[in-house]
Amino acid sequence: MDYIIYSEKFPRIFIVEGYSMTILDEMLEANRKFVIALPVEYVDYYPATSKMPDREIAIFTCMDTRLVDFLEPAMGIKRGEVKVIKNAGNSITGPFEATIRSLIVSIFELGVKEIIVIGHLDCGISHTTSQSLIKKMLDRGISLDAIKMIDKELEDWIDHFHHPIDNVVEAVRKIRNSPLIPKDVPVHGLMFNPTTGEVEVVIDGYQV
Ligand SMILES: [Zn+2]
Repeated sequence: MDYIIYSEKFPRIFIVEGYSMTILDEMLEANRKFVIALPVEYVDYYPATSKMPDREIAIFTCMDTRLVDFLEPAMGIKRGEVKVIKNAGNSITGPFEATIRSLIVSIFELGVKEIIVIGHLDCGISHTTSQSLIKKMLDRGISLDAIKMIDKELEDWIDHFHHPIDNVVEAVRKIRNSPLIPKDVPVHGLMFNPTTGEVEVVIDGYQV
């Protein structure tokens, strides 16, 4: 099949015979179509206000694909309203790891006044172990020396992640107890159902 290929470097459209589109090609093509016919809701948006979250909230959640384009509408969140921080299993692994850094910037630079940790049912991290992950890494050619650098941390993280609800409680506890997070910032903990979109409160940060 022939595809139309566009190149920034050579700004002309040409056809390549027998070329298979890569994922990157597909995304670039989608982007060109999007930019040419930018939907009106995006045209009317003012980037100057986009940095500060209008609702002064930071959400810390999982990178799970089922949450993409689902968690936000399920919670009535729109573009420009919140900061969203994600990682595998919404886990906090150290006193100044990436999530804590992002929260610090959110609070002190970007006006965030509340934090919401959102775990979800059927989180993939609860189904894996450090040993299975290490085996897969070794099978793909990661060196034993490299594994040894992180195996203790990996165990502490993955092998202690048994249930997504416990993990939310733990993440809230770590944020609240962090000496780097102001005590007047409520930290809520919620559970999200990635099938139905329903949210349940695990910890109400106003009550603590
Ligand atoms: Zn998850």
